[in-house]
Amino acid sequence: MTDRVYDAIIVGGGPAGLAAALSLKENGIDDILILERDKELGGILNQCIHNGFGLHTFHEELTGPEYAQRYIDMTLEAGIPYQLNTMVMNIRPYEDRGCVWKEITAMSSEYGMQVLHARSVILSMGCREKPRGALNIPGYRPAGIYSAGTAQKFVNIDGYMPGREVVILGSGDIGLIMARRMTLEGAKVKLVAEIMPYSGGLKRNIVQCLDDFHIPLLLSHTVTKIFGEKRVEAVEIAKVDENLKPVPGTEEIVKCDTLLLSVGLIPENELSRNMGLDMSKATRGAVVDDSLQTSCPGVFACGNVLHVHDLVDNVSKEAVNAGKHAAAYIRAFSSQTPALKNAVDPDTPLMQKFAARNATRNGVNPNDVTKNPDGSMTYTLPCINCPAGCIVNVTVKDEEVVSVSGNTCERGETYARNEVTAPVRIVTSNVNVNGGDKAVVSVKTAEAIPKDKIFACVNAMRDLSVQAPVTIGDVIIPNVADTGTDLIATACVALSE
Ligand SMILES: Cc1cc2nc3c(=O)[nH]c(=O)nc-3n(C[C@H](O)[C@H](O)[C@H](O)COP(=O)(O)OP(=O)(O)OC[C@H]3O[C@@H](n4cnc5c(N)ncnc54)[C@H](O)[C@@H]3O)c2cc1C
Repeated sequence: MTDRVYDAIIVGGGPAGLAAALSLKENGIDDILILERDKELGGILNQCIHNGFGLHTFHEELTGPEYAQRYIDMTLEAGIPYQLNTMVMNIRPYEDRGCVWKEITAMSSEYGMQVLHARSVILSMGCREKPRGALNIPGYRPAGIYSAGTAQKFVNIDGYMPGREVVILGSGDIGLIMARRMTLEGAKVKLVAEIMPYSGGLKRNIVQCLDDFHIPLLLSHTVTKIFGEKRVEAVEIAKVDENLKPVPGTEEIVKCDTLLLSVGLIPENELSRNMGLDMSKATRGAVVDDSLQTSCPGVFACGNVLHVHDLVDNVSKEAVNAGKHAAAYIRAFSSQTPALKNAVDPDTPLMQKFAARNATRNGVNPNDVTKNPDGSMTYTLPCINCPAGCIVNVTVKDEEVVSVSGNTCERGETYARNEVTAPVRIVTSNVNVNGGDKAVVSVKTAEAIPKDKIFACVNAMRDLSVQAPVTIGDVIIPNVADTGTDLIATACVALSE
């Protein structure tokens, strides 16, 4: 057991924790320690091998592991210490010499049980998925029911396929992304059922994860029964009414061996609750003031542990703020314990934000086509370049694009023109690795390739094994599937020990 005092301890080494640590350092605080329970830094991004990260922060579209690696590199360059395989079990605030200190109890295989002390703590433990138990679906407990994030870890990190015939419940972004991922890995995704009358996912994900692969999205539907004792054999799907109750007589049986649940995320808040922080009913995270300080002086929260974020860029931005305010707190610590100022429950602005988001997602048919009196056709489609999902109109006459409107950037115009003439997509997946410290490495096409070459590209990598070590940017398959584009690694794999 060790006893050691730090200026700041950061719980969780995901994007929020890393950005907060860098911000503390930039604001003059050096005595920092990051505690991460996993065997590597980077958090949930390590398993999000699809692209779509970093448009705001780095002005380029990165995969999750690429985005994480940039922050890991900056953390290493800044010489910020961290401990892996270290689980924080408890945080206890206590008063001494008129100040509120924090005692952090952590367990790790390398250091055993440690009791550490800190002037300030930044909570950045991320979030977790709602389990099946929270849904009360009748049936046995057969194999084949996974949360979408667990399935994502199996496929993207461990290299296992959870099943072959899949039904997905919930059309949030994780459910949509897993529909595409399972399809690319050779599974048949039968449908995605969504209890609400609109999808909870971004339009860009509905287009590129469902529409591209003709996967049906059943709005106002839910799973009402699971069949199978040892393994899932089928599920019963039913329509729901405006009170979200199943409508008798609308039940249908869908044969499948796997049910993926993507029914929401909740902040990982055991530690926050145990230490007695005020919690928000709406976000399920801690209540914070405008400096992201919780109800315990010197304890700050950022990222998905505070409220679930769609975009990692916003997580990083919030974490920079948490680090800045924690640094100010630490500087003031020895003279006085700052009082909690302007405490506000974030419910109202957040609920407004969600309401606005749902309103924009609702009721848009991604593939509206209008025939104009002059014989031209106008295609109305959501742009998939960024989460804004602008609705763009492209008018085509005699095979020529004559006008594009509704886009708010140049990339939007290029996307829309391509989409009605020669659609292209970046393909992300993974390939097996021999002799490495990980079973698989994530990969992407260096450029977008023709949409009709997606499966040729995935087939080219299906039985491939590469030799470790692998570094981000390594060419895995030159000119993959004759597309003129290389398949490159988006993560690093070291030699196994
Ligand atoms: C499937 C999926 C798809 C997504 N797609 C996109 C996308 O396309 N674009 C985009 O911008 N964003 C996307 N996001 C959102 C983005 O990835 C998250 O918002 C971001 O990763 C959250 O960062 P975080 O640091 O708060 O949490 P996390 O990344 O979850 O990190 C939390 C870390 O804390 C550690 N931890 C937890 N408890 C403890 C403890 N007690 N002790 C020690 N360590 C602990 C965890 O192991 C983890 O490493 C996606 C998220 C998911 C889940």
